Amino acid sequence: MDCIFCKIAAKEAKSSVVLENERFIVIKDINPQAPEHMLVITKEHFTTLLDCADKGLLGDMLLMAKEAAKKAGIDESGFRSVINTNEEGGQTVLHLHMHILGGRPLTGRMG
Ligand code: AMP
Ligand code: ZN
Repeated sequence: MDCIFCKIAAKEAKSSVVLENERFIVIKDINPQAPEHMLVITKEHFTTLLDCADKGLLGDMLLMAKEAAKKAGIDESGFRSVINTNEEGGQTVLHLHMHILGGRPLTGRMG
């Protein structure tokens, strides 16, 4: 499958890895929208959040987001965790991932 995040997870494409375990790879976003902008990417391919019913995996994704925020030093100052789904949700890469943003005050606007 021609999926950039599958390639990153398989180390077939370059990325800046922040954290990794059996089920996830956390990388720095190539086009950061805040001083810290990381992506928690599942190693297994799910096209969108709608395609994943694995409660354990989805819970672990949040734990991984917390770990990444701690590692980046934005846990106490604060951060935002976002999953965009499908076109109107703003999803551009069709492989499940969670954004973690922080390092400056984020705007209150959500949409
Ligand atoms: P989304 O719009 O929610 O699908 O988010 C996709 C994110 O992936 C965007 O913030 C992109 O900047 C980021 N992105 C796309 N390709 C890469 C890549 N090769 N390495 C790191 N981040 C990427
Ligand atoms: Zn994929």
